[in-house]
Amino acid sequence: MRLRIISLPGDGIGPEVTTQAIRVLHEVASAFGHTLEVDEKEIGGAALTKFGDPLPDGTLQSCLAADAVLLGAVGTPAFDHNPRELRPEAGLLRLRQELGAFANLRPAVFYPALAACSPLRFEMVQGTDILIVRELLGGLYFGQPRSIEGQGTSQHAYNTMRYSVPEVERIACVAFELARGRRQRVLSVDKANVLECSRLWREVVTRISAGYPDVQLSHMYVDSAAMSLVLKPTQFDVILTENMFGDILSDQAGGVVGALGLLASASIGGPVGLYEPVHGSAPDIAGKGIANPLGAILSVAMMLRYTFKLPREAECVEAAVISVLNAGLRTPDLARSGERVITSSEMGEKITEWVHSSADTNVRVASRN
Ligand code: NAD
Repeated sequence: MRLRIISLPGDGIGPEVTTQAIRVLHEVASAFGHTLEVDEKEIGGAALTKFGDPLPDGTLQSCLAADAVLLGAVGTPAFDHNPRELRPEAGLLRLRQELGAFANLRPAVFYPALAACSPLRFEMVQGTDILIVRELLGGLYFGQPRSIEGQGTSQHAYNTMRYSVPEVERIACVAFELARGRRQRVLSVDKANVLECSRLWREVVTRISAGYPDVQLSHMYVDSAAMSLVLKPTQFDVILTENMFGDILSDQAGGVVGALGLLASASIGGPVGLYEPVHGSAPDIAGKGIANPLGAILSVAMMLRYTFKLPREAECVEAAVISVLNAGLRTPDLARSGERVITSSEMGEKITEWVHSSADTNVRVASRN
């Protein structure tokens, strides 16, 4: 298969983690007989510095012409005081919109080898495997009108939460389809006791669920879901929710399993999928070669699964991550005192070696059968 990827390293630790993820992808391609083509473009602060635009047209057109996009992170303190449209983050928001990526998938999986990283007791968090399906292009973050108006004490601000039936229908279908490949449970999270948007959301999700009789649907208010996520994270399978609730709950779910550097995401639904680790540009550790590349590497696994429909290849990368963690290999963010730490590049190398040897074994077993 031909895999045409655009890599957008971005800012801070973005280039460090995407380098390792692309390295792993090259190994997967060669081990499983695919042709990988990677082109690199600027986004965020890197693009502002070079072109004065956080999403230059050349970057956007290349992304639209690719099969999938891998992004590192955006954000540079030097641009923090720029007007909103000239901040690095504006490039990423526009890219998500231009790619039509309305479904944001964020898995939160507990790795027993990293039990010490979770703030919860082992017996409470063991077995946690949640997929948050967050609506990404609607709700409060995009609704119009929005503004800050007036001066002094008469200044006031407003945003608009708005959802249409087709917007809810399409994200609900994504959640139900994904649940079919998991434990067949969807929890729809809303605030239907207070918000009209949520009442419409609940009505539409319930109607769509009739087309998925094999999937069990339940509903929960967002405040209750936030509490249950901490008290009983293992009860969740797929969580379906709107943009802002999903933003907050997915970070909380990440906190429950314990390691920000390990969280991956996919933004799909449009013609080109966007894959990125959940973490930011981490200016405090940028350039030191110690960033955890596993979030970016697991994002590549999601790319293999969702864009290229290559589950065996995706599972190989995921198994490599579990295996290196079980072997006790840790970047500094995962290490506890006394544990040996390795660099970003060493972590990428270990994953690549594992993919190489495991794919080699698979090929030998397949040829024997
Ligand atoms: P952050 O995720 O960059 O960092 C939070 C903390 O986690 C820092 O201490 C950092 O060192 C650590 N960390 C993050 N990723 C790590 C990794 N892979 N390995 C090891 N440690 C890691 O969040 P922040 O500090 O709030 O934001 C920094 C910049 O990133 C800001 O400009 C922000 O706007 C931007 N940001 C971008 C994205 C994105 O590109 N999707 C997401 C969040 C924040």
